[in-house]
Amino acid sequence: MTDVEHQKWWGWGVEGIAFHHEDKPAFAGFVLDKVGIDLTQPGGEPPTFDEIAVPASRLGDDLGARLRAAVGDHQVSTDDMLRVVHTYGKGMRDLVRVRAGDLPRVPDAVVYPANEDEVRAVVDATVAADAVLIPFGGGSNISGSLTPQPREERTIISLDLGRMNRVLEIDESSGLARIQAGGLGPDIEEQLTTRGWTMGHQPDSFKHSTLGGWIATRSSGMQSDKYGDIADITRGLRVVLPGKVVELRPLPSTSTGPSVREMIIGSEGRLGVITEAWVNVHRVPENRDVIAYLFPNWAAGLAAMAEISTSDAAPTITRVSDANETAFSLATRKASKGISGKVGEGLFEVLRRRGWDLEKVCISYIGYEGGAGKVRTEKSIVGKVIGKHGGIRLGRGPGAMYDQKKFDTPYIRDFLLDRGAIGDVSETAAPWSKLGQVYTTTVRAARAKFTELGVPGFIMCHLSHSYHSGACLYFTFAFPPNPDADFLGQYDVVKTAIQQSFIDAGGTLSHHHGVGTDHAPWLEGDISEAGTDLMVGLLRAADPGRNLNPGTLI
Ligand code: FAD
Repeated sequence: MTDVEHQKWWGWGVEGIAFHHEDKPAFAGFVLDKVGIDLTQPGGEPPTFDEIAVPASRLGDDLGARLRAAVGDHQVSTDDMLRVVHTYGKGMRDLVRVRAGDLPRVPDAVVYPANEDEVRAVVDATVAADAVLIPFGGGSNISGSLTPQPREERTIISLDLGRMNRVLEIDESSGLARIQAGGLGPDIEEQLTTRGWTMGHQPDSFKHSTLGGWIATRSSGMQSDKYGDIADITRGLRVVLPGKVVELRPLPSTSTGPSVREMIIGSEGRLGVITEAWVNVHRVPENRDVIAYLFPNWAAGLAAMAEISTSDAAPTITRVSDANETAFSLATRKASKGISGKVGEGLFEVLRRRGWDLEKVCISYIGYEGGAGKVRTEKSIVGKVIGKHGGIRLGRGPGAMYDQKKFDTPYIRDFLLDRGAIGDVSETAAPWSKLGQVYTTTVRAARAKFTELGVPGFIMCHLSHSYHSGACLYFTFAFPPNPDADFLGQYDVVKTAIQQSFIDAGGTLSHHHGVGTDHAPWLEGDISEAGTDLMVGLLRAADPGRNLNPGTLI
């Protein structure tokens, strides 16, 4: 059987790693205060696999034989666990449903091709049999873009690209690398960095998401201010469609009409299977530093980020948390090390004496990369902007903590679900002129829904991914739903209010999580009715039989 490693079937990441609160002394008090959950009480356990009923595979003999001929007997699986792993992504809806054993439709087989020829054979066999094909990367999406349609009668094949994980070549004079689409973040970076290169794309899901998935969902990494979003990083592509392959050579720029490359980026498996891409790569930087700063309030932090984006400095990361997220960060400090000794009572006492309202302070992280001179100059420019907006420098220690914690925090959603609570995210992007309004209306909308539901709720936000004209706002919300009402129904009330407020206040439905099924209701509000018509036309023309991941996007 295949040696591709998968995430837990019921949650984020791999078995044996979880979020713990015992080593974070302030966390239990914080959670009790904000959402009324008592962490001194034991949490529940996720279900065991035996407790859920998995519908039998409907893979027919003919298609099964063609798939086995295409990839080999051992690379076609109808194993229940593997089929469940390939049923959902890792959105809140996905996690709740899989834990509840809610499996109306599960892929009938999981197929692991080794190369593009095998992908072509699988695509052709699947479409010839009028079956459904769903490309699968790391299964980390949080927009419901993998889940089979519940009433799908046709056979469903999950095409897992996990064996196609190699960096195939590096064009050193152009700073381009050709990489197979199934490579996970660590696979890719390890192969690149041993040769002195980096792609610089680091989403928080880095360990469990793939190049193909990043491209198919228009992903963005935390260092996008320097390296760009995946849409900027991706230069050339190979995409398998039924009976043919789209080949887009890597070009720095081109004027070949509406961009086919852009059509593929964000296509969520509906326009074919991405098998490899040419991406921009950069020399591993000489220095890398993340410095933490503190602002007296959110408005000052936002204004400083906007000013940095038009300054002569070009940091890799610009991020500022609102007061609630800052409090959360402080509450997740570990007992011994802490975010920094400096963010302690001593510093707070000094700030209090200076007239700061400590309930309003906002922590910020700015990343720098490059030669020593460049980094020094940029720190100096940024330092002046931060000072101008009333901020102070905390230093490297808290910045390093941010770098370490960023891949652990995702496990907190499972921790909350074990305690019957919801913790989820929604993110958007908007012009600088509208960010303040998007923030205010979204926080207000979420709080109104917490009140309507009669639950203690918490919402926090950070700004990250700055551009010339605006930035991304990333909201995290949590609440314990009323146990007597529908769990996901209550989630929908809050999530819907947040998403609608994005569109109403001038933001997009998602800056980097994609559309999927979860955000599809807001697509027309985002790109207009005529824009949606164009997209429908494209999908119909490319896939008249709706064989390729139908249901996601539109
Ligand atoms: P999958 O989830 O496997 O698939 C996603 C979609 O892409 C599906 O529609 C699938 O059919 C399609 N697809 C996958 N591979 C291919 C292919 N080769 N060809 C065609 N279609 C394909 N996203 C960010 O951008 N930035 C973040 O910082 C970030 N942080 C996250 C943190 C957490 C805790 C979680 C759970 C998610 C996060 N995400 C983030 C979202 C998610 O990781 C991204 O959407 C990611 O790009 C999905 O990649 P994947 O390989 O897991 O794709």
